[in-house]
Amino acid sequence: MNLLTEREREVLLHLGTGAGNRELAGELGIAERTVKAHIQRIVMKLDQNSRLEAAVLSVLAHHLLCSDPHCTRCAAGAAHARRTGAPLLTM
Ligand SMILES: [Zn+2]
Repeated sequence: MNLLTEREREVLLHLGTGAGNRELAGELGIAERTVKAHIQRIVMKLDQNSRLEAAVLSVLAHHLLCSDPHCTRCAAGAAHARRTGAPLLTM
């Protein structure tokens, strides 16, 4: 996860919501082909086989990527960690 740039982490975070390239581009204010380039690099850096695998990783590692203190998905992740006594994933 530390291999990723700030921007790539941001793209990865949004990728976990299941958004398509066009939605991601709109969300991040960048061109669709830039989104594709980011995702390709993320998939490569994280040693995944596809954007789908990267998206799954994004969901699992959400709490590592997200910096929104009011995020409800983060709260859900923290509750899960308390129940199981372990963080979902450490990288
Ligand atoms: Zn969050």
